Amino acid sequence: MAECPVCGAEVELTADAVVGELMECPDCGTELEVLGVDPPELGEAPETEEDWGQ
Ligand SMILES: [Zn+2]
Repeated sequence: MAECPVCGAEVELTADAVVGELMECPDCGTELEVLGVDPPELGEAPETEEDWGQ
């Protein structure tokens, strides 16, 4: 289990979670990024930007 950095809820990582994977906190709905899997660590995902090169 990892802790949601936003609301503090315990979030269960999937067994095949990899670093960089994005998931959603089931409690607060924030998009989270897997920062580590051993031990499991979650961070707030950076906001998606769609202005690639333009
Ligand atoms: Zn949360």
